[in-house]
Amino acid sequence: MHLNVSMVKIAESIIEAALSLIQKGLIAGTWGNISVRVSQSQYAITPSGRKYQSLQPQDITVVNTDGTIVSGVFKPSSELPLHLAIYSARPDVQAIVHTHSVYASACAVAHRSIPPIIEDLVQLAGGSVDVAEYAFPGTADLGKNAVSALQDKYAVLLANHGVVGCGSSLAEAVTACELVEKAAQIYILAHQIGKPHILNQHDIDSMHKFYLEQYKHRQEDKTNESHINK
Ligand code: 13P
Ligand code: ZN
Repeated sequence: MHLNVSMVKIAESIIEAALSLIQKGLIAGTWGNISVRVSQSQYAITPSGRKYQSLQPQDITVVNTDGTIVSGVFKPSSELPLHLAIYSARPDVQAIVHTHSVYASACAVAHRSIPPIIEDLVQLAGGSVDVAEYAFPGTADLGKNAVSALQDKYAVLLANHGVVGCGSSLAEAVTACELVEKAAQIYILAHQIGKPHILNQHDIDSMHKFYLEQYKHRQEDKTNESHINK
């Protein structure tokens, strides 16, 4: 089945994001996965266990809400149930990125949430990045546990596994994973020189509100005067 022009664009953006995650050292080998909400009932997701460097747009799998394959010859990511569970619980989420980055995975292995300690992550994620209860990879339980620890935020850790970053765009979900990794590294380093100080709830809420209402719009690649005051 041929992909239409807009699906090719989405597939290309998924491949580009995957390559950038490899380049940033957030994923290794074929692990990790990326998906985008294409419409109310369809999702594009990376195929399972395929080398990102050799992916072509037609290799990106398109599935329905129930996981039925609409296009693509390869098996969709084994974490499809996790992605579908988040899309179903969070209509605001348009893209999901799952990585196995080192420092964040260290927190996930220690079952230690990343507390709200650093401005950029707090702005985007909306608070602490909590650890979802352990479940075997690829299971519906992993999706259920991730949704419950994610709450209304944009990032979550999977116990003994890795990171899930969500966004209103693919770029934002990639950034969520980058910021989680950076914050995990800072958290672990801060422990070595003293006690990490946690931001107060008022400041967390103000920073997240500022990000949602103003800062993320500045990051949009537009030269629109209506954004000048934001
Ligand atoms: P896939 O290659 O099936 O996407 O899975 C990798 C992974 O990260 C499993 O949790
Ligand atoms: Zn994984």
